[in-house]
Amino acid sequence: MPDLPDYDSPAALKTFLEVRGMAMQKKFGQNFLVNGTSRQRLIDALELQEGQSVWEIGPGLGAMTAGLLTKNINLSVFEIDRGFISVLKDLFSESENFSIIEGDVLRTWKKAIELKGIPDRFFGNLPYNIAAVIIADTISAGVRFDRALFTIQKEVAQRMTAKPGTEDYSSFSVLCQWAYDVAPVMDLAPGCFWPRPNVTSRAVVLNKKEKWPQCDAPEVFLSLLRGLFSSRRKTVKNNFSAWLALSPYLPQGGNPDDLARELLQTAGIDPSSRAETFELQVFLRLADTVYYAGKNK
Ligand code: SAM
Repeated sequence: MPDLPDYDSPAALKTFLEVRGMAMQKKFGQNFLVNGTSRQRLIDALELQEGQSVWEIGPGLGAMTAGLLTKNINLSVFEIDRGFISVLKDLFSESENFSIIEGDVLRTWKKAIELKGIPDRFFGNLPYNIAAVIIADTISAGVRFDRALFTIQKEVAQRMTAKPGTEDYSSFSVLCQWAYDVAPVMDLAPGCFWPRPNVTSRAVVLNKKEKWPQCDAPEVFLSLLRGLFSSRRKTVKNNFSAWLALSPYLPQGGNPDDLARELLQTAGIDPSSRAETFELQVFLRLADTVYYAGKNK
């Protein structure tokens, strides 16, 4: 393996890039984790076993990649930056259990699952602009990983672990907690990264729920979830009737307010309550109520 750059030294990384005529691209949320202790803690938290398949999103110059490859796993990395891709090829392509999936991970991950199956571990010090999207996209597509570990903006992490009745509780909280047990691992101060981001980051671990709480029509649940949180100040009845009005579940000529009241009563939900106080089971129950009411019409 060629000499690796000193991943703990911003000065060394800067020179490494300059020598190759490369520049950082702000639009790709590029902040390198230059703290070796934090990198080791993240790798430990993945609880890797030899031979496992692991995906890393956004390897950058390979700071995490190098550590991951010491674990005798099969590693696929997703990187969008052409310059970084050529560096990664130089540094790691001698490793036969290493492959690069080039391009925007939001466009490539589904195909990768078709080709390689769902990996055992899903990891990334994620670029801030795509963190919530990739997590939501995979869950919404019905794909869950045994264990996922992400470093993300602390605010996004707080939404992922938020409980009903708190300010951070959102449709994203419900979505994440539907599929996974989510727990914080550690906070990473801006100084752990180069360049320094403006925000604190947090690593979170997502462990696949043993029993995925199901409903009979996940697509109704996913759409309803967004609808019920669309305006936080409104009661569930108001958000629900606005959602029904635009849904295929409102019969032609039907009154969305009346249908909302009727379905909420069937599901045992107080129309004056607010979605931000609901446990997961309440959303699942309402989704099924909508689905079966539509089927029986
Ligand atoms: N893993 C490295 C580390 O910890 O030092 C770099 C992490 S940096 C926060 C995010 C990385 O994701 C960068 O390498 C960036 O080029 C890459 N990236 C950004 N958007 C991406 C996308 N849509 N698909 C794939 N990679 C992306």
